Amino acid sequence: MDAIKLLKDVVTVAQKSNDIDMVQKVIAAQEEVIELQDKVFKLQKENNMLQEKLKRSSKIVRYRGIPLITIEDDKCKIIYCANCYGKEEKLIPVHITDDIYTYCGTCGDRSNIKYSPDYEIIKETLKDVSI
Ligand SMILES: [Zn+2]
Repeated sequence: MDAIKLLKDVVTVAQKSNDIDMVQKVIAAQEEVIELQDKVFKLQKENNMLQEKLKRSSKIVRYRGIPLITIEDDKCKIIYCANCYGKEEKLIPVHITDDIYTYCGTCGDRSNIKYSPDYEIIKETLKDVSI
């Protein structure tokens, strides 16, 4: 049985006894339970959000010497800005020109993929996508 419903029943029984002190204590206990349920709800929501975040961050692929990331098994093979992800955990796709220059419209970062020691890996990752 739901704790709040149970306490509501206890309040009804206590009211019949005309014991005002007991009624007040049961009502206070009911309020505590409501607060605890609210906290549990918020913690469950936060826990779900953190698990999602952890799951997502475990799929982030980083590259040396360049603030770019991709997501493991991403069929679209989008390149995101690592600065924006690191700062606010937002996945901001970068603009790519001439196959090597990237630009993030959010933080303004400009990079050259060729400067990364992982250049060949990045090119291989993106080979099926016209970058
Ligand atoms: Zn950015």
